[in-house]
Amino acid sequence: TGPPPVLRYNLNNVTITNTPVKNRESVLILTPMARFYQGYWDNLLKLSYPHELITLGFILPKTKEGNAAYAELDKQITKTQKFGPEKDRFRSIIILRQDFDPPIPSQDEAERHKMQNQKPRRAAMAKARNSLLFTTLGPSTSWVLWLDADVIETPPTLIQDLAFHNKPVITPNCFQRYYNAEKKRMDERPYDFNNWQDSPTAQKMAAQMSPDDILLEGYQDMATYRALMAYMYEEGGDIHYEVPLDGVGGTALLVKADVHRDGAMFPPFSFYHLIETEGFAKMARRLGWHAAGLPNYKVYHYNE
Ligand code: GDP
Ligand code: MN
Repeated sequence: TGPPPVLRYNLNNVTITNTPVKNRESVLILTPMARFYQGYWDNLLKLSYPHELITLGFILPKTKEGNAAYAELDKQITKTQKFGPEKDRFRSIIILRQDFDPPIPSQDEAERHKMQNQKPRRAAMAKARNSLLFTTLGPSTSWVLWLDADVIETPPTLIQDLAFHNKPVITPNCFQRYYNAEKKRMDERPYDFNNWQDSPTAQKMAAQMSPDDILLEGYQDMATYRALMAYMYEEGGDIHYEVPLDGVGGTALLVKADVHRDGAMFPPFSFYHLIETEGFAKMARRLGWHAAGLPNYKVYHYNE
């Protein structure tokens, strides 16, 4: 028994390429989770990226709802990791319980999306994402996939397809299936409005704001005239059609680990009048990394 071993990592040897399976690159899937949806877990299991290269990280609030989600998550993890087929098992799983309370008690969609709730809610989400990121990012992580707990349907090749573009930050288009009462059939609509290209109007609005104020997207009282990726979807269009983005959402977001290692995080404060994931895109940009989006590549959000 000598002194404790020194662990050495050569970050140069951690490849981040557009053929990550071939190069056996490690992926960290990070999910902030207020509620557990079986659809999320089932979809996760179906991802065809080799599970032995995937580490999962979760952060759950210490609320009644968070406790319930934790219990269900724990049950599914045991089922998969202990009793499931070898190929389903992930390399490792980390679960964090949040050390601060959510700013708004109710998580119902209407309450969540009220404009006056946005700043405290998005700030809390940003802190949750940062806690998760800074405690789980490892020296051998190549990619970080941010995947919200209510994203219940993606192509099984999600990771490979996004990585194929070899972009520092890339996101698919997040839609939602719902029952269209008028057409009397199932239909779908855009869900994530945080993927956008900036506009002169938004720039002008930002210039007139006080330092702590933030711009929000998707609110009529704050028309920004940004170009939203949500509306760039074209039926039958090439799924690999790529557009540059200035703001991103977090529903499904693939990030080269180097971007986070350089220091890009989720500002829980007004950063260029942007917060959380949108602020992250801006911070990545200031570090020289440009975000991209795939308007025709769809993933689906749960419909509450
Ligand atoms: P929305 O889809 O934009 O309304 O945002 P969500 O409320 O779905 O939040 C985004 C992600 O964060 C989802 O995966 C939620 O389960 C999760 N989430 C929401 N609130 C909290 C929270 O207070 N703490 C943690 N750890 N996760 C949360
Ligand atoms: Mn959501």
